[in-house]
Amino acid sequence: MNIILFGPPGVGKGTQGEKLASETGSKHLAMGDILRAAVRDGTAPGLAAKAFMDAGKLVPDDLVVAMIEACIVAEEGVGFLLDGFPRNVAQADALALMLARNELQVDRIVFMDAPKENLLERLSGRLICKACGFGFHRQYSPPLKTGVCDRCSGELYQRDDDCEDVIAHRLEVYREQTEPLLEYYQLKEGFRSIDGSGEMQTVYAALKEAVKV
Ligand code: AMP
Repeated sequence: MNIILFGPPGVGKGTQGEKLASETGSKHLAMGDILRAAVRDGTAPGLAAKAFMDAGKLVPDDLVVAMIEACIVAEEGVGFLLDGFPRNVAQADALALMLARNELQVDRIVFMDAPKENLLERLSGRLICKACGFGFHRQYSPPLKTGVCDRCSGELYQRDDDCEDVIAHRLEVYREQTEPLLEYYQLKEGFRSIDGSGEMQTVYAALKEAVKV
């Protein structure tokens, strides 16, 4: 099954998407993770993307479209869950073309949303494992040992763009550029909308229901 999961930063796409993908055996393709890995590895696309990411701006479309197409093609036959792509209407158009080109289709488009206060709270308290990428929250899901990942004992860190002023900018970019995707997708076959504001398990149950065939 191929799924697009979209919604504002901090709504839980990463956590929920990772869980669903691992349970269904599909590949979780998180655009932000792909970009951060490219930055870490010092690749040409990573170097080009870094300044945009640090500022909370969208990385240019041609760059992210090429990167995600390479991942989608590599995963052919497995099924994928797209998280953080597309993030604007031009990327959604590019995705439609690339899927047609590769004779692929999307089965579910799931929109997750939550009130702004929830998003701010989640983003500003978020901690991520440097080694395995697993997410924690200082208040709501703290690690057993401060600064250490429960899963792999990796070091936890706060993302550079999870600071107050960059968060505010990312939410603005979301409202201006990504939210129009709701209108773009909501009448398409396979569209579902879920409430991302509840407890992790409640949201996951809603997500499972939304992708049920
Ligand atoms: P995320 O991990 O999804 O919060 O993404 C972190 C950052 O990566 C964003 O603030 C953007 O700078 C960049 N980014 C992620 N996905 C995209 C995309 N589809 N288009 C452009 N930039 C992106």
